[in-house]
Amino acid sequence: MDEKQLICTCGHVNPPGTQLCQNCGRLINDDYDKKKTTDVMRYDGSAVRSKTRNKTLIDKIWIFFSSVKTGVTLLVLTVIGAAMGSLLPQRYFIPANVDPETFYQEKYGSIGYLYYKLGFDNLYTSWWFLILLALVAFSIIAASIDRGVPLFKSLRNQTVKKHPTFLKRQRLTLTDSHTLPLEDVKVELEKKRYKVKIEGNSLLAEKGRISRYGPYINHAGLIILLAGSMLRFIPAFYYDGSIALKEGDTKSVPGTEKQYYIRHDKFIFEQYDQTAHSNTESKKADAAQNMIAKNYETKLTLYKNNNDKIPGAEPKLSEIDKGSIRVNHPFKFDHFELYQNSFDQSQLKEMIFKVVDNATGKETGKQFTVNLDQPDTSYTIAKNLKVNLRNYAPDFDKVEANGTLATKSPNTVNPAFVFEVAEDDKKAEYSLLKIRSSQDITEGNNYSIKFVGATNHVLTFLTVKKDLTLPILFIGFSIFLFGLFIGSYINHRRIWINQEDGMKLAAHTNKNYFGLKKEINSMLDTYHLPEVKDKNDESEAQS
Ligand SMILES: [Zn+2]
Repeated sequence: MDEKQLICTCGHVNPPGTQLCQNCGRLINDDYDKKKTTDVMRYDGSAVRSKTRNKTLIDKIWIFFSSVKTGVTLLVLTVIGAAMGSLLPQRYFIPANVDPETFYQEKYGSIGYLYYKLGFDNLYTSWWFLILLALVAFSIIAASIDRGVPLFKSLRNQTVKKHPTFLKRQRLTLTDSHTLPLEDVKVELEKKRYKVKIEGNSLLAEKGRISRYGPYINHAGLIILLAGSMLRFIPAFYYDGSIALKEGDTKSVPGTEKQYYIRHDKFIFEQYDQTAHSNTESKKADAAQNMIAKNYETKLTLYKNNNDKIPGAEPKLSEIDKGSIRVNHPFKFDHFELYQNSFDQSQLKEMIFKVVDNATGKETGKQFTVNLDQPDTSYTIAKNLKVNLRNYAPDFDKVEANGTLATKSPNTVNPAFVFEVAEDDKKAEYSLLKIRSSQDITEGNNYSIKFVGATNHVLTFLTVKKDLTLPILFIGFSIFLFGLFIGSYINHRRIWINQEDGMKLAAHTNKNYFGLKKEINSMLDTYHLPEVKDKNDESEAQS
């Protein structure tokens, strides 16, 4: 392709690929189809990079990304990708206390497993979705620069005086032997909110130029929207995590860099009456399944850590707020929101035991309570009777060769104890206690330790959210709508008049020729001139 600059007969030097001389409006690209008047006016005849340069690899990449076809394809792929993410619930919607791999497989079978393995469970934060968004953004930017910059330049630099061939090529034209008083016409058109320039015998009236930038404003809005959604990957703008807290525990809130701590004060669990008529599932065999939650609520206290700036320092907490979290009623502080996710009551908190005299079968002394998280080593039952805790496993696995108890986890779900009953002047008695079983270790024991009762921990699972991208998304969307509005409801209208040899008038608009005709005709009428000619009307009349 010819990359030489185009010199017009008027002497103006135009950049390669220009179709209409930027100075006089003559058609200077001979291989251009002269009948496509609307197309040649699209970017005001100026050179579009993707149409004029295709030599280097960069040119080819530019052509690829600036093409509307590429942009639309990428957008369609993004929409399909985003739709995939709504097929099954995303990771942050599943309960926080389950393993996602097993959750997806058990609930949705092999499709669920595949869904998890392909990373669709965290689709909107997956690398391939990010890349897709970036490509869409790049395509929008390339397309906008490719067409927008030449359009902007040619509209900004447009001249008042155009060559008669330029005027002749427009859709609306009028030639007459009578000339118009240009200064009066200027006043007349300014009443219709045109900006009017006069140079010698030529006049240019223009309004609604911003309409031409509608699509580009629109694109800018889209870019801000995309940038906003990509900011979600930066923790300062967006955080989505979870926290598990036992009743009574205080922990730092994840995502706050130890700036805030919360204490789980109390958990409230209310359920509907199992036999109530409203409970349609009351006939389930498993009684636990009959519990239908009416309300579950976490009462909490919020603290600020005054030592958060000193690394490794002990937290220095001061209470700043108290609140409660119910499903769909989050607790809010400093751009963070805490949502009730789920709860767990399977961990034991305390177990209560009694000592029974084997000879009489009666209880001896006081009952004792073992705190399963921090058990005491010795419990006084009576004046000369003690129970010592010799060994303990919170989640019993097996008895090791050396007699100690092995634990599967630190969770207090299946505790086991080796108790020593020590009475003054008598030999110590040992027994192993597990849930629903007890066995004597020493023979001929005088005492048995029996389980009385237990209390459970209530763990609350909270979702921690922060989203500072919402205002950015809102601004992006508003700009997008604004671009759409000015592109749709404002028309870019231009009227040229050249009176060097009689009166030649031509007009162009990007949409609504009917409205433009009405405006011109009402102006022409005041000077008793005939109506403007529309080439489209002529072609309709001919056919
Ligand atoms: Zn020229």
